[in-house]
Amino acid sequence: MDRIQMVDLKGQYEKIKNEINAGLQEVFDTAAFVKGGKVTEFQHDLEEYLGVKHVIPVGNGTDALQVALMALGLKPGDEVITPTFTFVATAEVVALLGLTPVLVDVDFDTFNISVDAVRKAITPRTKAIVPVHLFGQNADMEPLLALAEEYGLKVVEDACQSIGSFYSFSDGRRARSGCMGDIGCTSFFPSKNLGCYGDGGAVFTNHDELADAVRAIANHGMTVRYYHDRVGVNSRLDSMQAAVLQVKLKYLDDYVAARQWAASCYDKAFADTEQLIVPSRMSQSTHVFNQYTVKLNNVDREGLREHLNKKGIPTMIYYPVPLHLQKAYKSMRYKAGDFPVAERLCRCVLSLPMHTELTGEQLEKITRSVLEYVEK
Ligand SMILES: *Cc1c(COP(=O)(O)O)cnc(C)c1O
Repeated sequence: MDRIQMVDLKGQYEKIKNEINAGLQEVFDTAAFVKGGKVTEFQHDLEEYLGVKHVIPVGNGTDALQVALMALGLKPGDEVITPTFTFVATAEVVALLGLTPVLVDVDFDTFNISVDAVRKAITPRTKAIVPVHLFGQNADMEPLLALAEEYGLKVVEDACQSIGSFYSFSDGRRARSGCMGDIGCTSFFPSKNLGCYGDGGAVFTNHDELADAVRAIANHGMTVRYYHDRVGVNSRLDSMQAAVLQVKLKYLDDYVAARQWAASCYDKAFADTEQLIVPSRMSQSTHVFNQYTVKLNNVDREGLREHLNKKGIPTMIYYPVPLHLQKAYKSMRYKAGDFPVAERLCRCVLSLPMHTELTGEQLEKITRSVLEYVEK
């Protein structure tokens, strides 16, 4: 059996090596390394896949969030509501832009932003909400969008972990993750569900004006060459990454299916074990499992990790510390106890190996080893 890894990028590459290499060779031969044809081709392929009007490729997922917030024209002091249980990027860009991050708690079941908590956090200074579709399942967008509409707030979706997943509205309409709010953001970091071989990201929107603003801001605030209408940044996807992504996009649905199959194997094995709470699924959203994260119930987490590690099974804790208790955000004056659900999650979550190359044999070994420890 091959060594079990959290993410197996090499195994995935081996299967599509010829196509990837051919795409890269084309970039080398044309020497169009930046803003080349490959970037535009990939952009159109992704627009079609997502069913969204505009995809604007950028340098990484964090830039996507920053450029999105800049395009909304928010001013220093404007409040942006975002969950405290997530990767730091969301709060980071809010803070960097001089906006005020307002953190809120999440739902224990889904790990995602609590709509009730958002409602309570709205003030006259609130201008935007940034929900994160954590681990691959969409936040509950229908009530969140209704709330945003009620208060005239913008919604920027962090779809860095959820590309490809669908959300269903009560009128039967379905939309892809990242294509429901005003702007959606994703990352093509190698370990994401659609990962490139370096850094990359993209912004999605159905609004023409916002698309123009995002495009200009990501390109030094320039619309006509060397005429700068606003302060921008330099953030672009390069042609080599676009060539890789163009190939991998064709397989994204297969990759999602492989992740969902692995998740169902975990689910089945853990179903009758009360020490393990498997990830809950919402009827409104599909789950694309960027991570498979269980909640431990009366299990010594470090003991379990050590037990698995000895057997060559890696695990990760996403995330060990909620944003409101991070040193960098001390000035926001949050304290322990402010967001009890997120704090509880940080103590009990454990992410197991999850990728497109997991075999039945590997999953059998992982689940057997987990059960061995928690049921002892
Ligand atoms: C990965 C990730 C980001 C940042 O993406 P980068 O490409 O690494 O900048 C932002 N938000 C979430 C939820 C992520 O998982």
